[in-house]
Amino acid sequence: STRIVLASRPTGAPTAENFRTETVDLPEVGDGQVSLKTLYLSLDPYMRGRMSDAESYAEPVEVGETMVGATVSEVIESRSDAVSVGAVVLGYTGWQSHAVVDASSVRVLDPEKAPVSTALGVLGMPGFTAYSGMTKIGQPKAGETVVVAAASGPVGSAVGQFAKIKGARAVGIAGGPEKCAYLIDELGFDAAVDHRAPDFKDQLKAATPDGIDVYFENVGGAVAKAVLPRLNLYARVPVCGLIAQYNDTQAPEGPDRLPGFFTRVLTKSLTIRGFIQSEFVPELYKDFLRDVAEWIEDGSFRYREDVVEGLEHAPEAFFGLLEGKNFGKLVVKVA
Ligand code: NDP
Repeated sequence: STRIVLASRPTGAPTAENFRTETVDLPEVGDGQVSLKTLYLSLDPYMRGRMSDAESYAEPVEVGETMVGATVSEVIESRSDAVSVGAVVLGYTGWQSHAVVDASSVRVLDPEKAPVSTALGVLGMPGFTAYSGMTKIGQPKAGETVVVAAASGPVGSAVGQFAKIKGARAVGIAGGPEKCAYLIDELGFDAAVDHRAPDFKDQLKAATPDGIDVYFENVGGAVAKAVLPRLNLYARVPVCGLIAQYNDTQAPEGPDRLPGFFTRVLTKSLTIRGFIQSEFVPELYKDFLRDVAEWIEDGSFRYREDVVEGLEHAPEAFFGLLEGKNFGKLVVKVA
């Protein structure tokens, strides 16, 4: 079995030196356990957080340990009545070609219902993040304007399409003209704005003539700075991710903007609420699976995957994710 471990903790952007590939023997399959062959590995922005030992909502990966991650795998041996050989399962076995785990830690997928890789994206954690963050915090109403960045990715694309289904105006922010065209032509967003364009701020203004009622925060940084002054009275800001800041090593220089920020929160009666999707799983996961499966079926929900071949390419694909080189939900096809 091949696995990729964390070799050292990054300072700033992660590099190849932070990872190491190892070959190991698989342990025996114990009672109630299954042996898995990884088919797909999900690569997600939160993995940057796990590489660091800064305080966070989850424990870091220890140096020398296998990098964590959600996987879709085939069962090649089973000592559990609940999971049979040949089944395809969703698990959390990380950056490795094989794994032996408790059968209770995996969920059997139905390949007839949807391509199995979607359990890592539109019908998995990222899709649920969008669904729960919008349902509980964003709460878009018909006619309102919703803005989301990283809009061509699995979270952002679902946020915009959710907004459309609720009758709101969806404005996506993405890097480059190709992703922007995709938002409008394929996903049905009302407007798209390129955050890399020199006139980004003007584009954002033109795309949100009535201001912004929901800003689904995926990126932070310069995008958040441009959005903040455009928030309307009673606007809601689900704070989901801050990918523009994950590689930062120190606070930015310049004047202290915190007082100005809080003044705006007060005078515009803003609701700013951070969340980790797992908080809403008990309450909403069933509804999510039912609704999104239905929306995919009736054509009101689309998704795009960016599939990289080979576990050995996981590190470089992950670096690309942090820079916007992926186009759609990034998954590694391992076997
Ligand atoms: P994506 O597939 O959308 O990948 C991240 C994207 O972020 C890149 O493709 C890039 O798109 C964009 N990006 C990177 N750097 C910047 C920058 N400096 N400014 C603006 N955009 C940037 O990722 P996901 O859909 O999986 O995740 C989106 C966000 O949601 C992340 O912040 C992630 O951490 C967060 N998240 C939070 C969860 C929670 O429970 N709170 C759960 C899951 C995800 P582009 O080319 O368009 O710039």
